[in-house]
Amino acid sequence: MRKPLVAGNWKMHGSRVDNAALVRGLLDALKSESTAEVLLCPPYVYLWETGRLIKDSDIELGAQNVCAETQGAFTGEVSAAMLRDVGCRYVLVGHSERRQIYGETDTLVARKFVAAQSQKLTPVLCVGETLDEREGGRTVDVVTRQIDAILAVSGVAALASAVIAYEPVWAIGTGRNASPEQAQEVHGMVRGKVAALDATIGASVRILYGGSVKASNARDLFSMPDIDGGLVGGASLKAEEFARICAAADH
Ligand code: PEP
Repeated sequence: MRKPLVAGNWKMHGSRVDNAALVRGLLDALKSESTAEVLLCPPYVYLWETGRLIKDSDIELGAQNVCAETQGAFTGEVSAAMLRDVGCRYVLVGHSERRQIYGETDTLVARKFVAAQSQKLTPVLCVGETLDEREGGRTVDVVTRQIDAILAVSGVAALASAVIAYEPVWAIGTGRNASPEQAQEVHGMVRGKVAALDATIGASVRILYGGSVKASNARDLFSMPDIDGGLVGGASLKAEEFARICAAADH
């Protein structure tokens, strides 16, 4: 049985005061008997403080990005070892905003994936197609290419300690989520692809859905057989709403 995971990607939002209120609200609102794993990904500068606030809870800490290099003259970058040092256990790699706005290629994303695992961080590999790609019938090609870039460098065994997040770009921050059936189609394809290489890893790898997840659509999405939780942007900034999404992932 795969343990569901619900990750909140705060993107570049918040402040020390806002975050403390958000985390306290979340700690109050999350059900103690929850079976889902909950992960918070604040901006870099708030990682340490968020880690302090959640230290007596089961909530995990993750970063939104990582440098592919280990250390040195890379002004403005943050290494995987530094993330580990401030208490992160997870890191997002290949978020579509990194790919689209900052030009991160499949090759760079694969290097970040390797850097994360080298420090025992679990990478959450984000994949997904744009609207043009979906309308051009290229969804499977794009998602396959993004996963193949990781497999080429790390091999299928690396997916045993990774999470995949399917995030159709047209659904991120748009209020327009993929339907449960649309998402399941891609999740099923991804799981089948991994299972063809390694049946055990295919059965155990967690595949999250991201893209306008809300309390009102989470249960239907998470009830699909190959959707193991969510990567949540906007709705993770509201404690009550995010807690309801986490509850929707409970078995
Ligand atoms: C995201 O930031 O990865 C995301 C899915 O955002 P939203 O939930 O706001 O669509």
